Amino acid sequence: MDHQPKFFENLSGTGKAIGVLTSGGDAQGMNAAVRAVVRMGIYVKAKVYFVYEGYQGMVDGGDNIVEVSWESVSSILQVGGTVIGSARCKSFRTREGRLQAAYNLVQRGITNLCVIGGDGSLTGANLFREEWSGLLEELAQKGKIDQEAVKKYAYLNIVGMVGSIDNDFCGTDMTIGTDSALHRIIEVVDAIMTTAQSHQRTFVLEVMGRHCGYLALVSALACGADWVFIPEYPPEEGWEDSMCVKLSENRARKKRLNIIIVAEGAIDCHNKPITSEKVKDLVVQRLGFDTRVTILGHVQRGGTPSAFDRILASRMGVEAVLALLEGTPDTPACVVSLSGNQAVRLPLMECVQMTQEVQKAMDEGRFVEAVRLRGRSFENNLNTYKLLSHKKPDAELPKTNFNVAVLNVGAPAAGMNAAVRAAVRVGITEGHKMFAVIDGFEGFSRGKIKEISWGDVGGWTGQGGSILGTKRTLPAKYLEKIADQMRTNNINALMVIGGFEAYLGLLELSAAREKYDEFCVPMVMVPATVSNNVPGSDFSIGADTALNTITDAYESCLQLHEARSRFEEFCVPICVLPATISNNVPGTDFSIGADTALNAIVETCDRIKQSASGTKRRVFIIETMGGYCGYLANMGALAAGADAAYIFEEQFDIRELQANVEHLTEKMKTSIQRGLVLRNENCNENYTTDFIYQLYSEEGKGVFDCRKNVLGHMQQGGAPSPFDRNFGTKISAKAMQWISKKLKETYRKGKVFANTDDSVCLLGMRRRNLVFQPVAELKNETDFVHRIPMEQWWLKLRPLMKILAKYKTSYDVSDSGQLEHVAMHSPKEAETGAI
Ligand code: ADP
Ligand code: ADP
Repeated sequence: MDHQPKFFENLSGTGKAIGVLTSGGDAQGMNAAVRAVVRMGIYVKAKVYFVYEGYQGMVDGGDNIVEVSWESVSSILQVGGTVIGSARCKSFRTREGRLQAAYNLVQRGITNLCVIGGDGSLTGANLFREEWSGLLEELAQKGKIDQEAVKKYAYLNIVGMVGSIDNDFCGTDMTIGTDSALHRIIEVVDAIMTTAQSHQRTFVLEVMGRHCGYLALVSALACGADWVFIPEYPPEEGWEDSMCVKLSENRARKKRLNIIIVAEGAIDCHNKPITSEKVKDLVVQRLGFDTRVTILGHVQRGGTPSAFDRILASRMGVEAVLALLEGTPDTPACVVSLSGNQAVRLPLMECVQMTQEVQKAMDEGRFVEAVRLRGRSFENNLNTYKLLSHKKPDAELPKTNFNVAVLNVGAPAAGMNAAVRAAVRVGITEGHKMFAVIDGFEGFSRGKIKEISWGDVGGWTGQGGSILGTKRTLPAKYLEKIADQMRTNNINALMVIGGFEAYLGLLELSAAREKYDEFCVPMVMVPATVSNNVPGSDFSIGADTALNTITDAYESCLQLHEARSRFEEFCVPICVLPATISNNVPGTDFSIGADTALNAIVETCDRIKQSASGTKRRVFIIETMGGYCGYLANMGALAAGADAAYIFEEQFDIRELQANVEHLTEKMKTSIQRGLVLRNENCNENYTTDFIYQLYSEEGKGVFDCRKNVLGHMQQGGAPSPFDRNFGTKISAKAMQWISKKLKETYRKGKVFANTDDSVCLLGMRRRNLVFQPVAELKNETDFVHRIPMEQWWLKLRPLMKILAKYKTSYDVSDSGQLEHVAMHSPKEAETGAI
């Protein structure tokens, strides 16, 4: 492997001209992509041109193709749709039209095109590239351009970005716009739920997606719908009966509302459309339920782009420019896309062909294959939905006699409840008895634990906060009592959903069991030692000190048989799911709740920025949460288009502050007269939010004025975002399946005995995969004093924020660059890695 970091400063766009256009259906986030392409293009000293109105503008030329400046794309990041216009263009489908388009580009010296659109638009782009030299020859023959131009502009580089709410494009896990569309759908579902509750109604909700069921499927997962119809998974023959039975059963359980989601392209197994009207008529005729149809339509394409879409589009836009700069006559047209959390480049035509294969498979009734072709993420969503929505009759469930407890630890985070729901339901499906612990480890020690059933967690996906109750208390103080409870309730496995405390908690538990079982050293007086030895006990630092103290105590104490056997209770499989808004848990790129918090921050920043639209020259200083972890500040800044983000991970000094103020002063001279600065709450002890506010106020006197906002607990509250609901649901389902496997592996002679490191794991998403990592191994990757992972992936995106805010910086692009191939994944891969 090549370990030489590659920096993009060496790439220059001098002399190059890049055209950017949006085509086909619009989608939220397209503007963010356009902004990133323009700014990155200008940053590398290329000329950048808007091509207005998609291919139509390219064919028409004239004012439709104009060179743009840095300021041309200011204040569009938060705007939905596409400001440069999109269109469907008939003439581009003809060679005549493309000839004209080629002429218009050559005239301006544009040989690099960045196309943001769906598979149609990208197919057109590819054709254009293939024909390019022929088109130039023809133009030369007709005397419209000279031979020199034919030579000079011999090659056309094409890079595509997929902008479409449908998420129907193979090769990328998410298309730009999908997440925002999910936001719109979930907002509507949440609103409908309250009215449906009041009237005992059934709602049939039709969502967009053309021939792709992604939006419908993920919405169904995110709101716990009763039934979902998607094209890739047509219901079995006789579905009318099964659906009605299910609906009436749910009503009999006093459930006051039913939600049925229908994808616009839904079909039955004979390829006949299933429409929302048809479903409604069925419910009314057979069951006589009060039933309403809501067709969401273009609402789904509207509104502001979500934080995720803005970040995705910004990342992809920058990557697209890099791909154009690195393009050679031999590289095929490519799309920049997302695999897990990784930006990748794929040959455009491979993706398009795979996408068309899906349609072919569906047309021919090969539905299992269609699902596989959609990709592992789609398949995983479908499997999770199937797992959670249908409870098998008790008689059909396996019986394992294992008891599994679920608890929340740390501060509440949106999506925790979805995770609990999934854990409980998957656990029950696997045949375990599920227990809920109230109020974290503290509640556990007090015996606040009870069995929880399938129905108890109904409707939990959309609820914010933690329904079980969560506490920051670590278990070390209560080891003995917790062990008691584990024994009394015969708990065979633990699932802990929470933030850094959850992780620390597990380290403590696993330390306890290691010492007692393997090394046979006792735990005399541990609780007392902990509390006496933690001076001042700042939570974060105290936790680590306590941990070391325990370890010291173990090593110096005598063997105590009694204690050891007491702590055998902890020799069970234990899994922690990262759930915290701060996203500071080691071993995972994302934690449950961070996306919701990020959206809250970004929405607020939008509002704050807008509040100044009449007032000129104002800079806002905004303080975000996160402890020492700068994730929220940094990513919030990227998504909100901020000028600076102060974080602990990248220390700054007075010179940097001064440079930032000067930068803003310069900016105020342009047409952009608003500034936004984010500051993480713990980024620096002395450069407090007040200090920065005062510094900016003083230095900006006469040029701009300042306002400050501390966002506070609004970041922890609110309804969970679609991503957090689904991420919580999916990783929790996966964790529970892992627990089942470990239970089987470690069950011997009538009891569960798991004492190895790999039975206490954290399930996290790393780059492209979900991985189980022993918490003990993660110790080496953790900065316990500041409660952050030593390496954080998003720091790599920090230069990106600076570039887009017009700072000169250095950007390590070693990760990108290789062209990969679209591969159909194996079913096994879908099981292990997908998210
Ligand atoms: P989407 O990009 O969202 O799939 P369309 O399929 O409508 O949307 O394509 C948008 C535009 O791309 C079309 O109006 C047309 O101008 C161009 N286009 C699509 N397919 C082709 C093709 N096979 N050849 C040339 N141009 C095409
Ligand atoms: P959520 O809204 O979280 O999905 P629901 O109450 O809608 O919760 O349950 C989803 C599905 O689970 C229902 O459609 C039903 O089939 C099944 N289900 C829920 N509770 C029970 C139960 N107590 N017994 C049998 N099936 C149940």
